[in-house]
Amino acid sequence: MINYGRHFIDQMDIQSVVNSLKSDWLTTGPLVEVFENALEELTKAKCVAVSSGTAALHCAYFAIDLKPGDEVITPPITFIATQATAAQLGAKIVFADIQSDTANIDPSAVEAAITSKTKAIVAVDYAGHPADLGALRIIADKYGLYLIEDASHSLGSLYNGQPTGSIADITTFSFFPTKNITTAEGGAVATNNEFLLQRARRFSRQGLIKDSSEFKNNNEGAWHQEVHSFGLNYRLPDILCALGISQLKKINSFKDERNRIFMKYLFNLGNVENIDLPLIHKSVNPMWHFFPLRVNETTREDLYNYLLRNGFKTQVNYFPVHLHPVFREQRDLKGKFPISELFYKQELSLPLYVGLSDTQIDEISNLIIEFYD
Ligand SMILES: *Cc1c(COP(=O)(O)O)cnc(C)c1O
Repeated sequence: MINYGRHFIDQMDIQSVVNSLKSDWLTTGPLVEVFENALEELTKAKCVAVSSGTAALHCAYFAIDLKPGDEVITPPITFIATQATAAQLGAKIVFADIQSDTANIDPSAVEAAITSKTKAIVAVDYAGHPADLGALRIIADKYGLYLIEDASHSLGSLYNGQPTGSIADITTFSFFPTKNITTAEGGAVATNNEFLLQRARRFSRQGLIKDSSEFKNNNEGAWHQEVHSFGLNYRLPDILCALGISQLKKINSFKDERNRIFMKYLFNLGNVENIDLPLIHKSVNPMWHFFPLRVNETTREDLYNYLLRNGFKTQVNYFPVHLHPVFREQRDLKGKFPISELFYKQELSLPLYVGLSDTQIDEISNLIIEFYD
């Protein structure tokens, strides 16, 4: 069975992890900093490695001091971790509809959703295509809001030539196996704001302060560490950083390969009627996470089942977040974000990962062509 996404592990990755297993550190050791530095080089931002993309979002929201009474504006078409972590801090989740071409949050819908309680705009780079970050930046600055980018899909993507991570006030990444690189479970927070960086880092490490110049108890011994605000354990172990380091060394070839697969789908499916292919805005250079095909909503489920019967397990990204019972039982928002709801009914994510063969791409393309013939 061919899945919509999977990891790529080579001998270098295996050796890197084996070497770390033989070292003195299993969890926080020297490889954390090596991995963070490699991420910094790619993203052109300071980075904190954490244990998942969800943890990264939680750290980002903590860093901006998100709390009860605050509102965050988010897109419905995302994985629910974008919202769940803000809700965990007591914030009210507000939705703004998406742009129908990219499925990224629509800046004009964002502006319409701003209130005196809004603290942040959260963009998700759907499928790897960066959101409309320039327009969102202007709105964030106009209203004094933070711009947060959930770049779980878009490590390696560029917006106006700038890498994801260097653009928003805080950016978060995920290294789950289907994502652009993997550490099994893992994630990172990226920012060029030193204050936000330190808050995110501390929150991910139990809130512990080790620098004596900041202590409020000054008479303890050299062993002393203290906590000024509560944190959690979101550390990424050395073993997983070892995998991340060797994965990052391959990111340029990963990007080329993902791009090549994307282009092959465009070529194979370009003449099929009744389907819509993803497009690319002029300002971006995406590292594609999956291939978001759109089909007539009356045929989507049959196509999904047809491909499944023939060995291809596609995916639907995503069930609109505002329709989850956790939201609907408080406020029924059904029908309020029609572009997102229609997108959900039409979308089907085709396999896109390093290691997918030309034969497999042709095979699934031909099944789709046959299905609509
Ligand atoms: C994968 C993903 C997350 C969560 O990342 P985990 O590493 O699985 O915790 C958050 N947001 C989006 C958009 C994702 O795709």
